[in-house]
Amino acid sequence: MYPEFPGASCLLGALCSHAGGHASSGLLEMAGDSLRVLVLAAHPDDAVIGAGGQLARWRPLRVVHVTDGVPRHLRGDSAYADARRTEAEAALAIAGLESDRIERLGLLDQEVAYELVRLHGMLVDLLSSLRPRVVVTHGYEGGHPDHDAIAFAVHHACRRLGPRAPALVEMTSSHIRRGRICSGRFLADPSAPRCTVPLMGAELDLKARMIRCFRTQAPVFAALRPQRARESFRIAPGYDFSRPPHSGALLYEVFHWAFGGMTWRRWRRLCAEARPFLARG
Ligand SMILES: [Zn+2]
Repeated sequence: MYPEFPGASCLLGALCSHAGGHASSGLLEMAGDSLRVLVLAAHPDDAVIGAGGQLARWRPLRVVHVTDGVPRHLRGDSAYADARRTEAEAALAIAGLESDRIERLGLLDQEVAYELVRLHGMLVDLLSSLRPRVVVTHGYEGGHPDHDAIAFAVHHACRRLGPRAPALVEMTSSHIRRGRICSGRFLADPSAPRCTVPLMGAELDLKARMIRCFRTQAPVFAALRPQRARESFRIAPGYDFSRPPHSGALLYEVFHWAFGGMTWRRWRRLCAEARPFLARG
C-alpha cells in the first residue's frame, strides 16, 4: 500500500460517511485539520462518474481536470470544447462547486501517456501548493490510457513528496473483467481497504442530474453504463506499473482509444522512458 499511513480505515470512513454533520469527524480527529479533498480526474465527467454522490459533501474540495476531454479528431471544434467545459461546470455546480474550484491542466485528451514527465512535474507543484489531505483519483486498471497515466504520475509525485504526500484514494471507472466491461468496481486487490456507499433518494437524484449534464457523452455512457446507485473508494494499492493491470486485452485496446491506437506495450514503454526523469531532483 502506498503511501502507507495510519488511520486508513478512518480516512475511508470520513470520505464515505453519509450524514453531513459528522462526515469528516474521523479524519478531523486524526489530522487536526479539514478534509481538503482534491479529485484528480482525467476527463471532465470522471469526477461525477466516480464520486458524484459525494461531491456536495467533501469540503473544501477542488476538482482537477487533466485534459479538456477533446480528442485529436475533434480539435478545432470549439463548440465541442465549449460543451465539454460547460457540461462539467454545470454538473459540478449541482454539487455546489464554484467554477473557480475547478483546475484545468490542459493536457491532450487520450494522449496523457505521452506527457508523463510534464504531468508529474505539474502534480508535484499542484500538490505542494494546494496541500490536499486526500487525493481521490484513478486506479491502474487498463480502462483508459489517460486514467492509467494519471495513476502512474500521481503515485510517482507522492513518492517525490514523501511525508508531505496526500493520502491516495481511488474511485471507480471502467475496465474489462472476464471479457466484459465492468463499471463501478475495482480490480480485485484484497489488500486495499475500501468502502462502498449506496446512493439513495436525494443523493441518487443528484447524481442522475449531474450525469445528465454530459450530453456529449451519452454514446460513451451507453457503452460503459457508469454505476449510479453506489460508489466505491479504496486506499490506492501499490502498483507495479511494469506489469499489465490484468491478463487479457485491456479495455482501451478493445476500443482502440487513444491517439495512434494505444496498447499496453506502448504504454509501458512510455512509462519506462519517463521513469528516469521522475527520479531526478
Ligand atoms: Zn475518463
